[in-house]
Amino acid sequence: MFEITCGKCGAPIYSGVDLKPAKDMLKLVSNRCKKCGALLSDQDFIVEVKPLQT
Ligand SMILES: [Zn+2]
Repeated sequence: MFEITCGKCGAPIYSGVDLKPAKDMLKLVSNRCKKCGALLSDQDFIVEVKPLQT
């Protein structure tokens, strides 16, 4: 599974099992971090890929 986290506060913005283009995922949250309200551009977030735990 993978996760996109806010580059400013580290809050998880989106996580899921389907890897989608980052821009599409940012669109889902209107390019905003729900926690700190930062407007995120392509460089302002971190994509982390995590192994699925079973
Ligand atoms: Zn944030």
